Amino acid sequence: MPAESSNLLDGKRLALQIQEELTTQIQTLHAEIGRPPGLAVLMVGDNPASAAYVRNKERACERVGIASFGHHFPTEVTFDEVKQTIHDLNANPQVDGILVQLPLPPHLDATALLYEIDPNKDVDGLHPLNLGRLVRGESGLRSCTPAGVMRLLAAYDVELQGKHAVVIGRSILVGKPVSLMLLAANATVTMAHSCTPDLAAVTRTADVLVTAVGQPGLITAEMVKPGAVVIDVGINRKEVEGKARLVGDVDFTSVQPHSSLITPVPGGVGPMTVSMLLGNTVWSYRQRHKASYNS
Ligand code: NAP
Repeated sequence: MPAESSNLLDGKRLALQIQEELTTQIQTLHAEIGRPPGLAVLMVGDNPASAAYVRNKERACERVGIASFGHHFPTEVTFDEVKQTIHDLNANPQVDGILVQLPLPPHLDATALLYEIDPNKDVDGLHPLNLGRLVRGESGLRSCTPAGVMRLLAAYDVELQGKHAVVIGRSILVGKPVSLMLLAANATVTMAHSCTPDLAAVTRTADVLVTAVGQPGLITAEMVKPGAVVIDVGINRKEVEGKARLVGDVDFTSVQPHSSLITPVPGGVGPMTVSMLLGNTVWSYRQRHKASYNS
């Protein structure tokens, strides 16, 4: 990415650039393969945040030329109905990627449902096989948000080798996979979480600080080493001057002048997640085409 006057890691701009590249790739591949890539996003219930995320993903698919096979189930749908839909999508040759929008209503076991997705169509990278591939350093589908963080760091030439990266949060969705990816990039990685006693003492040693917690204002300037690179994965809804706003985990106003590079919220990691999802769908499409071509 070209240098900018501010120290923002502009995820929105990079995500759009990636989508343009994908559009060109898809045009070529579509002509060669005879069909577009296909993505199925499954959503249950009417959580407004989830509905907005799904709409965003479907619009992005349309922009780049990926066909959508979405299913929107009512809240009371049974586990077996969702499972059957996943099996149908696993068998559908037009579909390259399947994603279950989380969170699910409490009566549906998300972990058990994720096991039902064909690992080769698991574009969210959450199937145990794909997480295992990440642990083993094998190629495979990678979780979108952590992959987006890594792509953003690479685009801004952030040196990771030999650096101390601190990741706050240890979820399967973000904290654990991003820690493994930073480790694979030769950073020395420390993981912090809700039981870390003196969080500030840990974060102050970070050359690269990644926060994926979900607590607005958690990270203040005193917790950040001067010149650190700060990646804010958190998305929190907060009322600011009477208006609902999206904010991250970082107290942006105080931390920005303190850091060498920082992601804004919104416009940082969020848009990267969507572009990584599209990229994973195209990756899976290519792999499946290669496999059928070679068989
Ligand atoms: P999660 O499953 O709730 O995990 C949160 C993690 O934060 C847990 O590991 C928890 O520790 C840790 N934590 C909680 N309070 C803490 C504290 N005071 N100090 C240190 N660690 C603390 O959440 P998630 O799914 O990973 O998501 C994290 C955030 O990222 C949320 O705001 C979510 O909306 C956002 N997100 C953004 C994107 C994107 O595209 N930008 C994608 C996914 C998620 P324990 O393990 O000890 O409980």
